[in-house]
Amino acid sequence: MTDARSDCVDVAVIGAGMAGMAAALFAAQRGLSCVQIGNGGDILFASGLLDLLGVHPVAEGRMWRSPYEGIAALAREEPAHPLARIDAVSIRTAFESFIGALGTAGLAYAPLGEQNRQVLTSIGTIKTTLGVPQSMLAGVEALRARAPCLLVDFRGLREFSARQIAATAGEHWPGLRHRRIEFPGYEATPELYAAHLARALENGETRARTISLVKPLLGDARTVGFPAVLGLARSLEVHAAFEAGLGVPVFEIPTMPTSVPGLRMLGALESAVSARGVRRRHQARVRAFGFAGDGRTATLALDGVSHGKSVVARAVVLATGRFTGRGLTADRASVRESILGLPVDQPASRASWHRRDFLHPSGHAINRAGLNVDELWRPLDAHGKPAWSRLFAVGSILAHQDWMRSKCGSGLAIATAWAAIKQVAHQLQTVRGG
Ligand SMILES: Cc1cc2nc3c(=O)[nH]c(=O)nc-3n(C[C@H](O)[C@H](O)[C@H](O)COP(=O)(O)OP(=O)(O)OC[C@H]3O[C@@H](n4cnc5c(N)ncnc54)[C@H](O)[C@@H]3O)c2cc1C
Repeated sequence: MTDARSDCVDVAVIGAGMAGMAAALFAAQRGLSCVQIGNGGDILFASGLLDLLGVHPVAEGRMWRSPYEGIAALAREEPAHPLARIDAVSIRTAFESFIGALGTAGLAYAPLGEQNRQVLTSIGTIKTTLGVPQSMLAGVEALRARAPCLLVDFRGLREFSARQIAATAGEHWPGLRHRRIEFPGYEATPELYAAHLARALENGETRARTISLVKPLLGDARTVGFPAVLGLARSLEVHAAFEAGLGVPVFEIPTMPTSVPGLRMLGALESAVSARGVRRRHQARVRAFGFAGDGRTATLALDGVSHGKSVVARAVVLATGRFTGRGLTADRASVRESILGLPVDQPASRASWHRRDFLHPSGHAINRAGLNVDELWRPLDAHGKPAWSRLFAVGSILAHQDWMRSKCGSGLAIATAWAAIKQVAHQLQTVRGG
Protein backbone atom coordinates (compact mmCIF):
# COMPACT_ATOMS: atom_id res chain seq x y z
CA MET A 1 0.00 0.00 0.00
CA THR A 2 3.04 2.26 0.14
CA ASP A 3 2.60 5.48 -1.77
CA ALA A 4 4.57 5.73 -4.97
CA ARG A 5 6.19 8.90 -3.62
CA SER A 6 8.85 7.59 -1.26
CA ASP A 7 8.57 10.65 0.95
CA CYS A 8 4.87 10.05 1.64
CA VAL A 9 4.00 7.26 4.04
CA ASP A 10 0.62 5.68 4.69
CA VAL A 11 0.56 6.48 8.40
CA ALA A 12 2.42 8.85 10.70
CA VAL A 13 2.09 7.80 14.33
CA ILE A 14 2.75 10.64 16.76
CA GLY A 15 3.96 9.24 20.08
CA ALA A 16 6.00 6.22 21.08
CA GLY A 17 4.39 5.25 24.37
CA MET A 18 2.51 1.98 24.62
CA ALA A 19 -0.30 3.23 22.35
CA GLY A 20 2.02 4.67 19.71
CA MET A 21 4.15 1.52 19.67
CA ALA A 22 1.07 -0.67 19.33
CA ALA A 23 -0.30 1.53 16.53
CA ALA A 24 3.00 1.46 14.61
CA LEU A 25 3.23 -2.31 15.07
CA PHE A 26 -0.32 -2.98 13.91
CA ALA A 27 0.03 -0.58 10.97
CA ALA A 28 3.15 -2.39 9.79
CA GLN A 29 1.47 -5.78 10.30
CA ARG A 30 -1.30 -4.62 7.98
CA GLY A 31 1.23 -3.69 5.32
CA LEU A 32 0.97 0.06 5.80
CA SER A 33 4.15 2.09 5.51
CA CYS A 34 4.65 3.94 8.76
CA VAL A 35 6.71 6.65 10.37
CA GLN A 36 6.69 6.90 14.13
CA ILE A 37 7.65 10.18 15.75
CA GLY A 38 8.61 10.61 19.41
CA ASN A 39 10.65 8.78 22.01
CA GLY A 40 9.44 5.82 24.02
CA GLY A 41 10.69 7.18 27.32
CA ASP A 42 7.49 6.52 29.25
CA ILE A 43 7.68 2.81 28.54
CA LEU A 44 10.69 2.75 30.87
CA PHE A 45 8.17 3.11 33.70
CA ALA A 46 6.27 0.02 32.62
CA SER A 47 6.22 -2.93 34.99
CA GLY A 48 6.05 -5.39 32.10
CA LEU A 49 2.56 -6.40 33.22
CA LEU A 50 -0.11 -5.81 30.60
CA ASP A 51 -3.38 -4.84 32.27
CA LEU A 52 -6.61 -5.16 30.31
CA LEU A 53 -9.20 -4.28 32.93
CA GLY A 54 -8.82 -4.88 36.64
CA VAL A 55 -11.32 -2.59 38.34
CA HIS A 56 -14.86 -1.49 37.51
CA PRO A 57 -16.69 0.51 38.73
CA VAL A 58 -13.81 2.58 40.03
CA ALA A 59 -15.89 4.04 42.88
CA GLU A 60 -16.62 0.55 44.24
CA GLY A 61 -13.13 -0.76 43.57
CA ARG A 62 -14.65 -3.98 42.27
CA MET A 63 -11.95 -6.30 40.97
CA TRP A 64 -12.63 -8.58 38.01
CA ARG A 65 -11.28 -12.07 37.64
CA SER A 66 -12.29 -12.04 33.98
CA PRO A 67 -11.35 -8.76 32.26
CA TYR A 68 -13.77 -9.62 29.47
CA GLU A 69 -16.70 -9.89 31.88
CA GLY A 70 -15.51 -6.61 33.37
CA ILE A 71 -15.54 -4.98 29.94
CA ALA A 72 -19.04 -6.34 29.28
CA ALA A 73 -20.18 -4.63 32.51
CA LEU A 74 -18.30 -1.49 31.49
CA ALA A 75 -20.08 -1.50 28.13
CA ARG A 76 -23.45 -1.58 29.89
CA GLU A 77 -22.62 1.04 32.50
CA GLU A 78 -20.09 3.34 30.79
CA PRO A 79 -20.70 2.98 27.06
CA ALA A 80 -18.51 6.02 26.29
CA HIS A 81 -15.43 4.31 27.79
CA PRO A 82 -13.07 3.53 24.88
CA LEU A 83 -12.75 -0.14 25.87
CA ALA A 84 -16.53 -0.45 25.91
CA ARG A 85 -16.54 0.31 22.20
CA ILE A 86 -14.33 -2.57 21.11
CA ASP A 87 -15.57 -6.13 20.77
CA ALA A 88 -13.92 -8.90 22.77
CA VAL A 89 -12.67 -10.75 19.68
CA SER A 90 -10.74 -7.67 18.54
CA ILE A 91 -9.30 -7.14 22.01
CA ARG A 92 -8.13 -10.75 22.20
CA THR A 93 -6.61 -10.53 18.72
CA ALA A 94 -4.88 -7.26 19.55
CA PHE A 95 -3.34 -8.67 22.73
CA GLU A 96 -2.26 -11.89 21.04
CA SER A 97 -0.70 -9.97 18.23
CA PHE A 98 1.09 -7.60 20.61
CA ILE A 99 2.61 -10.27 22.84
CA GLY A 100 3.39 -12.38 19.76
CA ALA A 101 5.52 -9.52 18.43
CA LEU A 102 7.20 -9.09 21.82
CA GLY A 103 7.94 -12.82 21.89
CA THR A 104 9.52 -12.70 18.44
CA ALA A 105 11.66 -9.83 19.70
CA GLY A 106 12.90 -11.99 22.61
CA LEU A 107 10.50 -10.92 25.36
CA ALA A 108 8.35 -13.95 26.08
CA TYR A 109 4.93 -13.68 27.71
CA ALA A 110 2.93 -16.46 29.28
CA PRO A 111 0.05 -17.61 27.08
CA LEU A 112 -2.92 -15.33 27.61
CA GLY A 113 -5.99 -16.81 29.17
CA GLU A 114 -9.45 -15.47 29.82
CA GLN A 115 -8.72 -14.66 33.43
CA ASN A 116 -6.66 -12.02 35.13
CA ARG A 117 -3.71 -13.23 37.15
CA GLN A 118 -2.50 -12.03 40.51
CA VAL A 119 1.07 -10.89 40.88
CA LEU A 120 3.12 -9.86 43.91
CA THR A 121 4.37 -6.26 43.71
CA SER A 122 7.59 -4.76 45.03
CA ILE A 123 5.74 -3.41 48.07
CA GLY A 124 4.14 -6.74 48.89
CA THR A 125 0.67 -5.87 47.63
CA ILE A 126 -1.12 -7.91 44.99
CA LYS A 127 -1.76 -6.63 41.49
CA THR A 128 -4.37 -7.96 39.07
CA THR A 129 -3.28 -8.13 35.45
CA LEU A 130 -3.74 -10.10 32.23
CA GLY A 131 -0.38 -10.26 30.47
CA VAL A 132 2.50 -11.62 32.53
CA PRO A 133 6.08 -11.99 31.28
CA GLN A 134 7.25 -15.60 31.33
CA SER A 135 9.89 -14.60 33.88
CA MET A 136 7.17 -13.61 36.39
CA LEU A 137 4.80 -16.53 35.84
CA ALA A 138 6.04 -18.88 38.57
CA GLY A 139 5.21 -16.15 41.07
CA VAL A 140 1.54 -16.29 40.05
CA GLU A 141 1.34 -19.98 40.94
CA ALA A 142 3.40 -19.55 44.12
CA LEU A 143 1.09 -16.78 45.27
CA ARG A 144 -2.02 -18.80 44.44
CA ALA A 145 -0.80 -21.92 46.26
CA ARG A 146 0.90 -19.96 49.09
CA ALA A 147 3.66 -22.55 48.72
CA PRO A 148 6.91 -22.24 50.70
CA CYS A 149 8.83 -19.54 48.90
CA LEU A 150 12.15 -17.75 49.32
CA LEU A 151 12.46 -14.08 48.32
CA VAL A 152 16.00 -12.92 47.65
CA ASP A 153 17.30 -9.38 47.38
CA PHE A 154 20.71 -7.77 47.04
CA ARG A 155 22.37 -5.48 49.54
CA GLY A 156 22.53 -1.99 48.05
CA LEU A 157 19.56 -2.36 45.68
CA ARG A 158 17.39 0.28 47.28
CA GLU A 159 14.28 -0.04 45.18
CA PHE A 160 13.57 -3.60 46.25
CA SER A 161 13.29 -5.04 49.74
CA ALA A 162 12.44 -8.73 50.12
CA ARG A 163 11.98 -8.09 53.83
CA GLN A 164 9.30 -5.49 53.15
CA ILE A 165 7.48 -7.72 50.69
CA ALA A 166 7.53 -10.62 53.14
CA ALA A 167 6.33 -8.35 55.96
CA THR A 168 3.32 -7.22 53.93
CA ALA A 169 2.44 -10.38 52.02
CA GLY A 170 3.58 -12.82 54.72
CA GLU A 171 0.52 -12.13 56.80
CA HIS A 172 -1.46 -14.40 54.45
CA TRP A 173 1.50 -16.45 53.26
CA PRO A 174 3.22 -18.12 56.21
CA GLY A 175 5.78 -20.00 54.08
CA LEU A 176 7.22 -16.78 52.64
CA ARG A 177 10.84 -16.24 53.75
CA HIS A 178 13.37 -13.64 52.74
CA ARG A 179 17.17 -13.42 52.58
CA ARG A 180 19.59 -10.73 51.50
CA ILE A 181 22.82 -11.55 49.68
CA GLU A 182 25.80 -9.66 48.29
CA PHE A 183 25.76 -9.30 44.53
CA PRO A 184 28.94 -11.02 43.27
CA GLY A 185 31.54 -8.51 42.17
CA TYR A 186 29.73 -5.57 43.77
CA GLU A 187 30.58 -6.33 47.41
CA ALA A 188 32.30 -2.97 47.85
CA THR A 189 29.67 -0.93 45.98
CA PRO A 190 27.30 0.90 48.33
CA GLU A 191 24.42 1.47 45.90
CA LEU A 192 23.34 -0.93 43.18
CA TYR A 193 21.19 -0.24 40.13
CA ALA A 194 18.80 -2.78 38.70
CA ALA A 195 19.92 -2.27 35.09
CA HIS A 196 23.59 -2.85 36.04
CA LEU A 197 22.73 -6.08 37.83
CA ALA A 198 20.62 -7.25 34.91
CA ARG A 199 23.51 -6.71 32.54
CA ALA A 200 25.96 -8.36 34.95
CA LEU A 201 23.78 -11.48 35.17
CA GLU A 202 24.12 -11.98 31.42
CA ASN A 203 27.68 -12.99 32.27
CA GLY A 204 27.75 -16.74 32.95
CA GLU A 205 30.30 -16.54 35.73
CA THR A 206 28.42 -13.85 37.70
CA ARG A 207 25.26 -15.87 37.26
CA ALA A 208 26.89 -19.07 38.53
CA ARG A 209 28.28 -17.25 41.57
CA THR A 210 24.87 -15.75 42.36
CA ILE A 211 23.18 -19.13 42.06
CA SER A 212 25.80 -20.68 44.35
CA LEU A 213 25.02 -18.04 47.00
CA VAL A 214 21.27 -18.67 46.83
CA LYS A 215 21.29 -22.47 46.69
CA PRO A 216 22.28 -23.04 50.35
CA LEU A 217 19.42 -20.74 51.41
CA LEU A 218 16.68 -22.73 49.69
CA GLY A 219 15.57 -24.88 52.62
CA ASP A 220 12.01 -26.05 51.95
CA ALA A 221 11.36 -23.33 49.35
CA ARG A 222 9.54 -24.63 46.31
CA THR A 223 9.97 -21.34 44.43
CA VAL A 224 12.42 -18.45 44.55
CA GLY A 225 11.52 -14.82 43.85
CA PHE A 226 14.08 -12.20 42.79
CA PRO A 227 13.84 -8.53 41.92
CA ALA A 228 13.37 -8.18 38.14
CA VAL A 229 17.07 -8.11 37.28
CA LEU A 230 17.47 -11.51 35.63
CA GLY A 231 19.01 -10.30 32.38
CA LEU A 232 18.22 -7.50 30.00
CA ALA A 233 18.15 -8.44 26.33
CA ARG A 234 18.87 -12.10 27.20
CA SER A 235 16.39 -12.46 30.03
CA LEU A 236 15.01 -15.78 28.77
CA GLU A 237 18.44 -17.37 28.93
CA VAL A 238 19.24 -15.90 32.36
CA HIS A 239 15.91 -16.96 33.82
CA ALA A 240 16.31 -20.49 32.46
CA ALA A 241 19.82 -20.70 33.91
CA PHE A 242 18.56 -19.70 37.37
CA GLU A 243 15.83 -22.33 37.27
CA ALA A 244 18.27 -24.99 36.13
CA GLY A 245 20.86 -23.98 38.70
CA LEU A 246 18.47 -23.76 41.65
CA GLY A 247 16.30 -26.72 40.64
CA VAL A 248 13.04 -24.91 41.46
CA PRO A 249 10.81 -22.47 39.58
CA VAL A 250 12.14 -18.92 39.73
CA PHE A 251 10.18 -15.72 39.29
CA GLU A 252 10.85 -12.02 39.05
CA ILE A 253 9.01 -9.26 40.89
CA PRO A 254 8.84 -5.91 39.09
CA THR A 255 10.90 -3.23 40.84
CA MET A 256 10.08 0.45 41.14
CA PRO A 257 10.50 2.50 37.94
CA THR A 258 12.72 2.98 36.04
CA SER A 259 12.54 -0.79 35.83
CA VAL A 260 14.37 -3.51 33.97
CA PRO A 261 11.04 -4.87 32.61
CA GLY A 262 10.47 -1.35 31.22
CA LEU A 263 13.88 -1.41 29.54
CA ARG A 264 13.18 -4.84 28.12
CA MET A 265 9.76 -3.74 26.87
CA LEU A 266 11.18 -0.66 25.19
CA GLY A 267 13.96 -2.66 23.55
CA ALA A 268 11.57 -5.36 22.34
CA LEU A 269 9.05 -2.89 20.96
CA GLU A 270 11.73 -0.86 19.21
CA SER A 271 13.09 -3.96 17.57
CA ALA A 272 9.59 -5.28 16.76
CA VAL A 273 8.55 -2.12 14.91
CA SER A 274 11.93 -1.60 13.25
CA ALA A 275 11.97 -5.22 12.03
CA ARG A 276 8.65 -4.56 10.32
CA GLY A 277 9.97 -1.53 8.47
CA VAL A 278 8.58 1.25 10.65
CA ARG A 279 10.77 4.32 10.29
CA ARG A 280 11.45 5.70 13.73
CA ARG A 281 12.09 9.40 14.28
CA HIS A 282 12.73 8.97 17.96
CA GLN A 283 14.53 12.26 18.53
CA ALA A 284 11.84 14.34 16.90
CA ARG A 285 8.68 15.90 18.23
CA VAL A 286 5.77 17.06 16.12
CA ARG A 287 5.38 20.80 16.46
CA ALA A 288 2.38 21.20 14.17
CA PHE A 289 0.57 19.51 11.34
CA GLY A 290 -2.34 19.97 9.01
CA PHE A 291 -4.05 18.23 6.13
CA ALA A 292 -4.06 19.55 2.57
CA GLY A 293 -7.28 20.95 1.16
CA ASP A 294 -8.62 17.58 0.00
CA GLY A 295 -7.90 16.10 3.46
CA ARG A 296 -5.90 13.24 1.96
CA THR A 297 -2.36 14.20 2.90
CA ALA A 298 -0.98 15.63 6.08
CA THR A 299 2.32 17.46 6.47
CA LEU A 300 3.90 17.24 9.92
CA ALA A 301 6.50 19.77 11.05
CA LEU A 302 9.15 18.27 13.34
CA ASP A 303 11.29 19.80 16.07
CA GLY A 304 14.45 18.34 17.55
CA VAL A 305 16.08 17.19 14.29
CA SER A 306 18.59 18.91 12.08
CA HIS A 307 17.27 17.48 8.81
CA GLY A 308 14.14 15.75 7.62
CA LYS A 309 12.11 18.38 9.40
CA SER A 310 8.83 17.34 7.84
CA VAL A 311 6.91 14.15 7.19
CA VAL A 312 4.09 13.67 4.71
CA ALA A 313 1.50 11.00 5.44
CA ARG A 314 -1.88 9.86 4.17
CA ALA A 315 -3.20 9.34 7.69
CA VAL A 316 -2.12 10.46 11.15
CA VAL A 317 -2.55 8.65 14.45
CA LEU A 318 -2.36 10.81 17.56
CA ALA A 319 -0.92 8.73 20.43
CA THR A 320 0.51 11.56 22.49
CA GLY A 321 -0.83 10.56 25.91
CA ARG A 322 -2.17 12.86 28.60
CA PHE A 323 -0.35 15.27 30.89
CA THR A 324 2.85 13.28 31.50
CA GLY A 325 3.13 12.40 27.80
CA ARG A 326 2.28 16.05 27.03
CA GLY A 327 -0.54 15.20 24.67
CA LEU A 328 -2.74 17.35 26.92
CA THR A 329 -1.70 20.65 28.45
CA ALA A 330 -3.42 22.43 31.31
CA ASP A 331 -3.31 26.09 32.26
CA ARG A 332 -5.15 27.86 35.08
CA ALA A 333 -8.47 27.70 33.24
CA SER A 334 -8.69 24.68 31.00
CA VAL A 335 -7.13 21.68 29.32
CA ARG A 336 -6.19 21.68 25.66
CA GLU A 337 -4.80 19.20 23.21
CA SER A 338 -1.19 20.25 22.73
CA ILE A 339 -0.52 20.10 18.98
CA LEU A 340 -3.72 21.13 17.21
CA GLY A 341 -5.74 22.59 20.06
CA LEU A 342 -8.48 19.99 19.48
CA PRO A 343 -11.45 20.29 21.85
CA VAL A 344 -10.93 18.36 25.08
CA ASP A 345 -13.84 16.82 26.96
CA GLN A 346 -13.26 18.18 30.48
CA PRO A 347 -15.01 19.34 33.63
CA ALA A 348 -16.93 22.60 33.24
CA SER A 349 -14.63 24.54 35.54
CA ARG A 350 -11.28 24.14 37.19
CA ALA A 351 -12.97 23.92 40.57
CA SER A 352 -14.39 20.54 39.58
CA TRP A 353 -11.13 19.02 38.33
CA HIS A 354 -10.34 17.44 41.67
CA ARG A 355 -12.30 16.27 44.68
CA ARG A 356 -11.36 17.65 48.05
CA ASP A 357 -10.30 14.20 49.18
CA PHE A 358 -7.20 13.38 47.13
CA LEU A 359 -7.57 9.64 47.78
CA HIS A 360 -11.30 9.53 47.02
CA PRO A 361 -12.09 6.07 45.60
CA SER A 362 -13.96 7.54 42.64
CA GLY A 363 -10.86 9.39 41.44
CA HIS A 364 -10.88 12.88 39.96
CA ALA A 365 -12.84 14.22 37.01
CA ILE A 366 -9.68 15.63 35.42
CA ASN A 367 -8.36 12.10 34.95
CA ARG A 368 -11.21 11.38 32.58
CA ALA A 369 -10.54 14.41 30.40
CA GLY A 370 -9.48 13.74 26.84
CA LEU A 371 -10.52 13.67 23.22
CA ASN A 372 -13.94 12.63 22.05
CA VAL A 373 -13.80 10.46 18.96
CA ASP A 374 -16.36 9.19 16.46
CA GLU A 375 -17.05 5.51 15.80
CA LEU A 376 -13.98 5.39 13.52
CA TRP A 377 -11.67 6.78 16.30
CA ARG A 378 -11.38 10.23 14.73
CA PRO A 379 -11.15 13.18 17.15
CA LEU A 380 -14.09 15.55 16.98
CA ASP A 381 -13.94 19.27 16.37
CA ALA A 382 -15.94 21.94 18.18
CA HIS A 383 -19.00 21.06 16.04
CA GLY A 384 -18.90 17.39 16.94
CA LYS A 385 -17.63 16.41 13.47
CA PRO A 386 -14.34 14.60 12.73
CA ALA A 387 -11.62 17.23 12.79
CA TRP A 388 -10.03 15.57 9.73
CA SER A 389 -11.23 12.49 7.92
CA ARG A 390 -7.81 10.86 8.28
CA LEU A 391 -6.83 11.88 11.78
CA PHE A 392 -7.23 9.19 14.45
CA ALA A 393 -6.55 9.10 18.19
CA VAL A 394 -5.58 6.19 20.44
CA GLY A 395 -4.48 5.44 23.98
CA SER A 396 -4.67 7.54 27.09
CA ILE A 397 -5.45 10.80 25.28
CA LEU A 398 -8.99 9.50 24.81
CA ALA A 399 -11.76 10.82 27.08
CA HIS A 400 -14.07 8.93 29.46
CA GLN A 401 -11.49 6.66 31.07
CA ASP A 402 -9.19 6.70 34.09
CA TRP A 403 -6.74 3.97 33.16
CA MET A 404 -4.76 4.19 36.36
CA ARG A 405 -7.74 3.51 38.60
CA SER A 406 -9.39 0.99 36.27
CA LYS A 407 -6.08 -0.84 35.83
CA CYS A 408 -6.50 -0.82 32.08
CA GLY A 409 -3.41 1.13 30.86
CA SER A 410 -1.93 -1.29 28.37
CA GLY A 411 -5.33 -2.68 27.42
CA LEU A 412 -6.55 0.76 26.49
CA ALA A 413 -3.39 1.44 24.49
CA ILE A 414 -3.30 -1.90 22.66
CA ALA A 415 -7.02 -2.31 21.98
CA THR A 416 -7.65 1.25 20.77
CA ALA A 417 -4.53 1.11 18.58
CA TRP A 418 -5.84 -2.09 17.05
CA ALA A 419 -9.31 -0.67 16.44
CA ALA A 420 -8.06 2.63 15.01
CA ILE A 421 -5.46 1.06 12.72
CA LYS A 422 -8.15 -1.22 11.35
CA GLN A 423 -10.06 1.92 10.35
CA VAL A 424 -6.95 3.56 8.93
CA ALA A 425 -6.26 0.51 6.76
CA HIS A 426 -9.88 0.36 5.69
CA GLN A 427 -9.91 4.02 4.66
CA LEU A 428 -6.64 3.87 2.78
CA GLN A 429 -7.58 0.65 1.03
CA THR A 430 -11.07 1.65 0.00
CA VAL A 431 -10.29 5.10 -1.33
CA ARG A 432 -8.72 4.33 -4.68
CA GLY A 433 -5.65 6.41 -5.32
CA GLY A 434 -6.06 7.60 -1.69
C1 LIG B 1 4.43 4.66 36.39
C2 LIG B 1 3.70 3.86 35.37
C3 LIG B 1 3.36 2.54 35.66
C4 LIG B 1 2.69 1.78 34.72
N1 LIG B 1 2.35 0.51 35.03
C5 LIG B 1 1.60 -0.20 34.18
C6 LIG B 1 1.14 -1.50 34.52
O1 LIG B 1 1.46 -2.04 35.56
N2 LIG B 1 0.35 -2.15 33.64
C7 LIG B 1 -0.01 -1.59 32.45
O2 LIG B 1 -0.77 -2.19 31.73
N3 LIG B 1 0.46 -0.38 32.07
C8 LIG B 1 1.24 0.33 32.91
N4 LIG B 1 1.72 1.57 32.56
C9 LIG B 1 1.71 2.01 31.17
C10 LIG B 1 0.43 2.57 30.73
O3 LIG B 1 -0.23 1.46 30.19
C11 LIG B 1 0.64 3.60 29.64
O4 LIG B 1 1.52 4.59 30.05
C12 LIG B 1 -0.65 4.26 29.31
O5 LIG B 1 -1.41 3.27 28.68
C13 LIG B 1 -0.50 5.47 28.45
O6 LIG B 1 0.07 5.14 27.19
P1 LIG B 1 0.02 6.15 25.97
O7 LIG B 1 0.89 5.60 24.91
O8 LIG B 1 -1.38 6.48 25.65
O9 LIG B 1 0.65 7.52 26.54
P2 LIG B 1 2.12 7.85 27.00
O10 LIG B 1 2.76 6.68 27.61
O11 LIG B 1 2.02 9.09 27.81
O12 LIG B 1 2.90 8.15 25.64
C14 LIG B 1 2.72 9.32 24.90
C15 LIG B 1 3.95 9.52 24.06
O13 LIG B 1 3.71 10.57 23.12
C16 LIG B 1 4.87 11.35 23.02
N5 LIG B 1 4.49 12.69 22.53
C17 LIG B 1 3.65 13.59 23.09
N6 LIG B 1 3.57 14.69 22.32
C18 LIG B 1 4.38 14.48 21.26
C19 LIG B 1 4.72 15.26 20.11
N7 LIG B 1 4.24 16.49 19.90
N8 LIG B 1 5.59 14.72 19.20
C20 LIG B 1 6.09 13.47 19.39
N9 LIG B 1 5.80 12.70 20.46
C21 LIG B 1 4.96 13.20 21.37
C22 LIG B 1 5.42 11.37 24.44
O14 LIG B 1 6.80 11.71 24.43
C23 LIG B 1 5.17 9.95 24.88
O15 LIG B 1 6.25 9.10 24.58
C24 LIG B 1 2.39 2.34 33.46
C25 LIG B 1 2.73 3.65 33.16
C26 LIG B 1 3.37 4.42 34.11
C27 LIG B 1 3.69 5.84 33.75
